This record gives sequence, C-alpha cells and structure tokens, in this order.
Amino acid sequence: MTFADQRPRTVLLAGGAGFLGSHFCETLLAQGDRIICVDSFLTGSRNNIISFANHPRFRLIRHDICNELEVDEPLDEVVNLACAASPPRYQADPVHTLMTSVVGTHNLLKLAEKHRARFLQASTSEIYGDPAVHPQTEDYLGNVNCTGPRACYDEGKRAAEALCFDFLRLRRADVRVVRIFNTYGPRMQPDDGRIVSNLVNQALNGEPLTIYGDGEQTRSFCFVSDLIDGMIRLLRVEPNPRAPVNLGNPGEFTINQLAELVTQLTGRSVPVLHKPLPQDDPRMRRPDISQARTLLGWKPRVPLEEGLPQTIEWFRQASKVA
Ligand code: UDP
Repeated sequence: MTFADQRPRTVLLAGGAGFLGSHFCETLLAQGDRIICVDSFLTGSRNNIISFANHPRFRLIRHDICNELEVDEPLDEVVNLACAASPPRYQADPVHTLMTSVVGTHNLLKLAEKHRARFLQASTSEIYGDPAVHPQTEDYLGNVNCTGPRACYDEGKRAAEALCFDFLRLRRADVRVVRIFNTYGPRMQPDDGRIVSNLVNQALNGEPLTIYGDGEQTRSFCFVSDLIDGMIRLLRVEPNPRAPVNLGNPGEFTINQLAELVTQLTGRSVPVLHKPLPQDDPRMRRPDISQARTLLGWKPRVPLEEGLPQTIEWFRQASKVA
C-alpha cells in the first residue's frame, strides 16, 4: 500500500463539530490541511471546536446536509460524519436520522462529484445488526430488523453505503467507506446516552450505574485517536480498496466488565441499577480488522485500560467547567 503525498488539502468535514468530527478537524489542521466544517449543531457542539474555531485554516458553515450544499471554493476531499450516532439521540427524531443518512449522503456525494473530490463515508458496525457471525468481517451481510427502533440508523447507513458504491461503480466519485465500531474518548457528550459516557458520569456523580439487561452483552471499544488515524489512512491510501473497511479495537468486554473497570478507575463504589434491554440491542460485537491491517497497515494502539482513564479525566474536568 502507499499513501497520497502530504500536500495540504482542502477538506470539507460534515459533522465536524461532533465527537469524532472535531478530532478529525483537529488532526488535519495540525497536518497543515484547510478545513471546512459543516454542522447543523443538532448533536454537534460549539465547545468541541472552540480550541481551533479561530484558526486561519478553519471555516465553519452551519448547515443541515439534508439540504443541498454549494461551496464557493475548490474541495479536495469530502468526509461525511454527519449523523446522530447514539441510540437515544438517533431515535429522538428517527425520520430525520434516516433522511440524514440517505438524502444527506446523496447531497454530499453530488458535492464531491462536482468538485472531483475524494469522498469518505462514516458507516457503522450497526449495519451488521444483531450479528450471527462473530467477530464481524466485512463480507458478513448482517442481521438488521428493518422495522425496529434502530432501523432509522442501521437502514439509513446501509442505504448510504449502497449510494456510495453506486457512485464509485458509476465513476462519479472516488469513494471510500469505513465501518466504525464503538469509539470513546474526550469530547463525548456526557448526556448522549452511550454506555461509556453514562457509566463514567454516573460513577463520578455517585449515581447508580445503569446496566441494560443482564450486562453480558459485549462491545469492543476503540480510543478516538486510533480511529481517526485509521480513517485518515483509508481516505489517503492508494489504491482505493473499493470495499468497506472495519475500524475498531478487537478487545471485547461485557458491559458488566466495563462497569467494573469504571468503578475501579474512578474509585467510586456505586450500586448497579438494572434496566430492561432495549429492543434489537446487539448481543455481541467485535470487529475483524484483518482488512484494515492489510490494506492500511493499521492497528489500534490504545487499550481500554489506557484510554478509559484519559476519558474519565476529561469528563471530570468538563463537569467542573459546566
Ligand atoms: N447500555 C447499558 N447502560 C447504559 C447505556 C447502554 O447497559 O446506560 C448498553 C446497551 O444496551 C448496549 C451497550 O451498553 O448493549 C452499548 O450501548 P451504546 O448505546 O453505547 O452503543 P451501541 O453499541 O448499542 O450503539
């Protein structure tokens, strides 16, 4: 594999004020690129981009990608990270979530085509649904309930992948697709309802840890810096893999194990409060990352035992500022 040269690029990042988007912006700014951050601020936050909002190579456009977008300067790359991503957030307005993935991705693909820009789509391990294959390889077609409460996200992202590969086959854009597994780190929203943010904030506030179901379901947690490194590799690798690539940390934990680790690392001993398991909640999830290793020379470097303390410290500081 080779990687495109290091010349500075103009990169449009949709969802650039979100958790992942803001780290992506920051990393590319540090590498010398120019960033056009597009965000509706539905789930993104101004706080996430505050440390580089005045950077001379950073431009912010407030815009919902469900509406067509024109940009008055040349673009080299378009990255689509725009979509609510935690179950409570994406279920709050399910129709808008689905439209963001379908209509929004279509709008951004057309923008990339017009500018002859390379395109990176943030897809998700959710396209595997409640998987019958473990760990999940990219060729597994998934097990998604298309009428359930997660469908707005899962089916939206599946349709977005279909659009991406049609644009690629039709030679309308140089498209790459990453399937992102659970990612955590600084700048997660404390109230996004995800497991890491919930458990850490509950422990720090001395509240009971909410565990849905028996807590024996598993997830694999990737630290945000590892994920961004893999995504930039996929965006810039030659040749185009022309197939989706999983990115995630294969270290697999039950929710009970995660709760124990949070208790240890925060030094707070709080009771557990069991709540019903949400409908269609995947029972297990772990990425097979052989493709990322081979095609991108990538592997995660930060184990949960290292990334979680950094995340806890960030939440601790953020709660002082709030
Ligand atoms: N979960 C939990 N307690 C919480 C939040 C989530 O037990 O307070 C469980 C949830 O049911 C799922 C797992 O933790 O099995 C991961 O949930 P999350 O919302 O972080 O992401 P998902 O991978 O389901 O999209």
